[in-house]
Amino acid sequence: MDFILTEQQKALQKKAREFAIREVLPVAQKYDESEEFPLDVIKKAWEENLLNLGIPKEYGGPGYSLLDACIVVEEISSACPGIATSVFDNNLGAEPIVIGGNEEQKQRILTELVKKFKLIAFATSEPAMGSDVASMKCHAEKDGDEYILNGNKFWITNGGYADYITVFATIDPEKKHKGIAAFIVDTKSEGVRLGKHIPKLGQRSSNTVSVGLKDVRIPKENILAKPGRGFVLAMQTFAHTRPAIGAFAVGCARSAMEYSIDYAQKREAFGRPIGNYQVIQEKIANMYKDIEAARLLTYKAAWEADQGMDNNLSSSIAKAFASDVAMNVTTEAIQIFGGYGYLRTYPVEKLFRDAKLYQIYEGTSEIQRIVISRFVMKRYEHAMPYLGKKRG
Ligand SMILES: Cc1cc2nc3c(=O)[nH]c(=O)nc-3n(C[C@H](O)[C@H](O)[C@H](O)COP(=O)(O)OP(=O)(O)OC[C@H]3O[C@@H](n4cnc5c(N)ncnc54)[C@H](O)[C@@H]3O)c2cc1C
Repeated sequence: MDFILTEQQKALQKKAREFAIREVLPVAQKYDESEEFPLDVIKKAWEENLLNLGIPKEYGGPGYSLLDACIVVEEISSACPGIATSVFDNNLGAEPIVIGGNEEQKQRILTELVKKFKLIAFATSEPAMGSDVASMKCHAEKDGDEYILNGNKFWITNGGYADYITVFATIDPEKKHKGIAAFIVDTKSEGVRLGKHIPKLGQRSSNTVSVGLKDVRIPKENILAKPGRGFVLAMQTFAHTRPAIGAFAVGCARSAMEYSIDYAQKREAFGRPIGNYQVIQEKIANMYKDIEAARLLTYKAAWEADQGMDNNLSSSIAKAFASDVAMNVTTEAIQIFGGYGYLRTYPVEKLFRDAKLYQIYEGTSEIQRIVISRFVMKRYEHAMPYLGKKRG
């Protein structure tokens, strides 16, 4: 077992950190206030090969492992969680193609994403459904070799600027997960309507829109997963992208901790820096230990995916744990800043607003706990003898 980053990973971390400090941090507050989409920053990330992190080398991508991608997004998120979400969204949108696309689709779409500055979004959620993916209503009707899509998707990150969206839709809502298929939708297709940006509590620079689909014809070559396979593809995608949410949360919490250390050493109360008081020291110690634990769980979940292992459980653990750490650390950071923490003068209130999203998107914290408890209650093998007779 080895907990040390390789020389390449250290170099990648340095590159991502320099990008975050140079291109992201100076504009983080501006984009948060204006709620504009930072297209210029996203384009620079593409120019520096930091946009399509998971696209394999054979399709022109950097071919980074998921662990490498987590190292990159922790750095970008520590400068601005909203911009990090938008930068990583190409990974989320492309992952169903990486996992489930045929060779022609990979050559065509993945190569294009790398060569040209193109955005790809991901859409399972709908206005009346987020957690319960199997109950989606967006309808896919077969018409010869093609499909016709009708319905509405909601909360679609980067959707307003996307060139493509991987859309999940059902041939029959009654069939639940067995009816779900997946499609590559070109947003220029007739019948696609990209909604206006939806204002948010935090991560305001990431674009969030509804997507309307009215008689959108999907050519044969853009069918990504047949009915029944789409649900599995969505779940496999989440297992590969949830560790990155863990890394976002770690980056966000790390910055809140760093600002807290700084402030605690400078702010004086009762004649001494507040960092001299044990209650404040304890808060900072807890921040550091929780961030360290969240990062290790994130790395483990990413590493398992990179080994080709089933990381469904570890990715849920990492996402749930790291999201809670980000929420707790940013809350405590505001406390350390006192009244100033509550003002927009200092960056901790933004990180606090940004952190909340980690407990919601890509499966809420409750859903992650359902995944974990299902394993613990049904499949976990006890090490010690059972109390009485083993059930089942
Ligand atoms: C800013 C933002 C960006 C997003 N980006 C995307 C995107 O790009 N693509 C996309 O497809 N989706 C996206 N989403 C949608 C996101 O994945 C959903 O919001 C999320 O999965 C929760 O779904 P919901 O909002 O419908 O809540 P619901 O599913 O309605 O849940 C409401 C509450 O009930 C709880 N709950 C639900 N079921 C259970 C249960 N069985 N047991 C216990 N508690 C339960 C939930 O945890 C939650 O607390 C985004 C959301 C946001 C806010």
